[in-house]
Parts: sequence; structure tokens; C-alpha cells
Amino acid sequence: MIDRSPTISRDPAQLRLAPNLQDWAHEREVFRWDALREELLAAAPGSINIARLAVDRHAAGPRAQRTALRCLDRDGGRRDVSFAQLAARSNQFANLLASLPVTTGARVFVLTGRRVELYEAVLGTLKANCIACVLFTAFGPEPLKTRLKIGAADVLVTTAALYQRKIAPIEADLPSLRHVLLLDDDGAVRPAGHLSSYERLMATSPEAFVPPQTTAETPALLHFTSGTTGTPKGAVHVHEAALMHFMTGRYALDLHDEDVFWCTADPGWVTAMSYGVIAPLLLGVTSIVDGGDFEAQRWYRILEEQKVSVWYTAPTALRLLMKAGPELAARFRRQDLRLIASVGEPLNAEAIWWGMDVLGQPIHDNWWQTETGGIMIGNTPGQVIKPGSMGRPLPGIDALVIERLPGGGVRPIESAEASGELALRKGWPSMFRAYLNQPDRYFGCFAGELYLTGDLVRRDVDGYYWFLGRSDDVIKTSGHLVGPFEIERVLMEHPAVIEAAVIGVPDALAGEVIKAFVLVRAGIESDASMREQLMAHARRRLGPALAPRSIAFVGALPHTRSGKIMRRLLRARELGLPEGDTSALETVA
Ligand code: ATP
Ligand code: MG
Repeated sequence: MIDRSPTISRDPAQLRLAPNLQDWAHEREVFRWDALREELLAAAPGSINIARLAVDRHAAGPRAQRTALRCLDRDGGRRDVSFAQLAARSNQFANLLASLPVTTGARVFVLTGRRVELYEAVLGTLKANCIACVLFTAFGPEPLKTRLKIGAADVLVTTAALYQRKIAPIEADLPSLRHVLLLDDDGAVRPAGHLSSYERLMATSPEAFVPPQTTAETPALLHFTSGTTGTPKGAVHVHEAALMHFMTGRYALDLHDEDVFWCTADPGWVTAMSYGVIAPLLLGVTSIVDGGDFEAQRWYRILEEQKVSVWYTAPTALRLLMKAGPELAARFRRQDLRLIASVGEPLNAEAIWWGMDVLGQPIHDNWWQTETGGIMIGNTPGQVIKPGSMGRPLPGIDALVIERLPGGGVRPIESAEASGELALRKGWPSMFRAYLNQPDRYFGCFAGELYLTGDLVRRDVDGYYWFLGRSDDVIKTSGHLVGPFEIERVLMEHPAVIEAAVIGVPDALAGEVIKAFVLVRAGIESDASMREQLMAHARRRLGPALAPRSIAFVGALPHTRSGKIMRRLLRARELGLPEGDTSALETVA
């Protein structure tokens, strides 16, 4: 087992390539968004358009024949798509949209799972100056209806099977939906009226397309938030977001020309759009597009066989790999893997140490939100990692810790060490420009020049940020304000614990007392003695005031489709309150 030191520095031999971001402090000082805009526009003169920057400019240059997408299917089949092919296919889709016809700004929804047509459709939509929105295929008809309605979908690309099961029953409630383009339509659904065969229309659609002008501020993407804290919000992003995807692909994911990159995020989650689709294409690297679902052995095999060098995943997936045990990991090689990054949920120190012990390298946590459109804070490979910390703000990102004032307004906490709400100074290109149909809610997220994230953090003396919890989940116990993750990270230090979630339960004396829900490793008895052990560990590490008052063992915790623990649901169930919007809830088999 590796020594648990408070910091980890990457071994340059394992990183193989010098990190793109070597001198964090210097780059933050000299970085200018304008300079990056000029760099990208010099590479692709004209107007800023995500798809033109991501594929057309490579298709017109030396990377034309390089593999942009390596698509793997469930049964081991593989299909490579070059930048030139992707440019042509997305042109065909843009022409297809024009022929329907749809007009500028139309909303094109994609419900297909991870496959090449998703890329064609999204990129073609962006070229055609329409707005793309990808949804989770695991959603049932109701959550789909809610999102298609909020987004006023004009066009939907989906499979015949998904159409029959999930869209046909809700279609009558979707008056804006004028065109449904069906994939895999093997005759089961008869294309007629508003239903067409995707492939048939693509086959007659020309490969040449002259994109209309888009400006930096032209709306490009619609993403629904994960729904962890309430009803999902539709966040709108513009074409200029490409600058952010490019910068973070370069610095946070450290993409180099020769990398094979694998982003495991489900296509319905913003991570899959920003980093599964856009960033790797912008940087001209090869991406793995895996059509299969999570399966530990299969994932290890992909890392080995596809020679993945940069891997972007999430704590939930890492926990499932932990659960699968170190023996499985040891059966596969990862000789090409030089960087593992994670996002979406707090990455506790133990998970990083597991990476060191079992995968042979640390995991680089980073933080962002649907609203920020791209990575804001991260552990880039050139910096020292402090296990348990999300890292430091990237170049071009001005992060602050603020406190909200009782009469409204906010005050930045100037001291180097600070705890409070994380805020970001406006001005980064991928900042959301609206919550669809909810202007008040949108403006409510800002205080002057600051965007208020709703997340609580601690900044340490070296400028590293530590996640404490979401402000909605904060627990007030005996005069202390506690972020749930402060407690959860301690519970997860115990070797028996895989995952933990804590909530506040009303209490006449303390205001609230802390209740923990704990998932233990397979083979471990969840009995009174285990409970005592965990209590003792928590009391020792947290002190009696912050240690959970009670611990419940669970077989699973409620997660959103994007893998986030829904503490509000635990709370509602505990207190017998209405569960609220559960459209994003992953149903546990
Ligand atoms: P909703 O806004 O609908 O409640 P959500 O906030 O979960 O859902 P996302 O935008 O997908 O929707 O998630 C962003 C949130 O995920 C962040 O605000 C933060 O709470 C959490 N998060 C993301 N990355 C990290 C990280 N590295 N460490 C801790 N938390 C993270
Ligand atoms: Mg949120």
C-alpha cells in the first residue's frame, strides 16, 4: 500500500508528456480569453461556431484522416470515423434539417444513446444554427415529456424502439414537435407524416454545406441540470463556449495530439456534451465512444485494448470499480493510461488512494456545473494534488468565497483561508445565458458581477478548494453549520464503507441532528457491531457534536441519472414528506 502523504505529485515518467499547464500561477497571470479567441479564429477564420471549430477545421487540414471517433458496440464490434467523415456526415444532417425545413434557432433533441449518429446530429444541428439538446435514454416517458416540453422541441432524433416505448405515448402533449427522425427503423414503425427514417433522409442529403453565420452569442446548446436539488433547469449555452471547452481540454484534461481519450459520461449529462463531444474534437484527438453500459471487466478491457491515455469518469463509476475488487483490475494492463480525471460528485481522499494502490496512479478531481458549461476548478497534472480537494481555479477563472448578507447582497471573504459559498466572476465564455423560461431564477443566481454557485467550499491557504456540500443540503446542528460531505468523507475513510450520505433530522434540542445512510462493502455484516465501529470512528474524527447521531445501513442510495446522491429524497423519505420532482432518479434494479 502506498504511503498516505498529504500531497501527491505526478511522476513525469508516467505522465510521459510534459503537462500543457506547467506553471499554474504564471498562466493564470498571463491568460487572456481574447488571445484564445484569436488563436481559434486564426485556425478557422470566420464566425465562431462550435461544430466548425470541432470538425470542419480538422477536416480541412492535416488531421482529416485521423480517427475522431472510435465507436465500440456492445458485442465487441468497432467502427472508426475520421474527422473528414464526421464533417461530411454532420453537413448532411445540417442539410437534412434545412430540407425539413426548420428555421434558425429550432430545438433539435437527441435521444439515442452513445453512437455515431448522436455526434452527427449534434454537430449538424450546431452548423445549421439550431440548438441541440441530448436526453438520457434511461428516462421514462414522463421525464422526457417534461424536458421536451420545457425545451419546446421542434425535432427529435431517436430510435424506432425508443420512439415506440417512450415518445408515442406522450406525443399528443408535445404540440411543438414537428419532426421525429427514426434510427434503426426496421419496419416496425411506419415512417409517415411527421415520422421519417433518419438514414433514408441522410442518404439523399448532400455532403456539402455552407454554414450560416453564427456569432459568439448565438445559442447553441440546451442542457438540463441533474435535478439533484429540485426540478431540473434548462440551461442555455452559446457558441463561444467552445473557447472554454478548448482551454479546459488543453489544461484540465491535458489532451495532447497523440492521446486516446475516453469520457464515460452518459450522453444525457452535460459532461458528455462538453467533454465527450466538443473538447476532444476541438483538440483533434481520438475519442472512444462506447455503446455499452457500465461493466467493470468490460471497462478495464477497453482501457487496455483501446490504449486509452486520458480517461474522464465520475466517482460513482470509480466506486463501482472499487466494489469489483483489486483482483479484477490487476488482470488488465493500463500501460497507455497517463491521466484519470473525475467530476460530478465529491471525490474523497480514499478514492484517490485507491487509484494509487489499484490503478497505479491518482485520480484528478475537478469541479463544475451545468451552468458553468466547463471545468472551473481542477487538479491539473502539473500541480500537486491534495487528496480530497477539488484543486484550484483554472486560468481565466476567477473563483471567490462569499457570504450572503442577511439583508440581501453578498460579501467576498478576502482572507486566503475561507469557508462559504463558491462564487465565480462573470466573463468565462461557457457561462449559461439563461434558464429556459425562468428569467427570475436566472437573475437570482447573480449578485452584480458574481455568479453564485450554491455550493459550499473551503479554500485553504494554498488556494485549493475543498467541497463541503450544497447549500440546500447544509445541516444546522447545535449551532454548527455542517456541509454533508464533511461528515461523509470521514465515514468513507472507514475501510468497510463504500458510500455514505448524511442528512439533518429535526431535533428539539439541537435544531437538527445528523443521520447517516451507509452502504458497506460486499461481505461485510451491517450489524450492531459494525454500527458501533463506524460511530466510534466518526466520533474520534469529528468529535461528538458533528458525529452522526444515527446510522442506517442501506443496500443502495438514491442517485440521479448522472450519478449524484439525492439527499433531498433521503430527507423527504425520512420525514414522510412529499418526494418532489423525481424525474431524474435512477431506478435501482
Ligand atoms: P440541480 O442543479 O438540478 O440540483 P445538479 O446541481 O446536481 O442538479 P449538475 O449541474 O449536473 O446538476 O451538477 C453540478 C453539481 O455537482 C455541482 O454544483 C456540485 O454540487 C456537484 N459537483 C460537481 N463536481 C463536483 C466535484 N468535483 N466535487 C464535489 N461536487 C461536485
Ligand atoms: Mg445545480
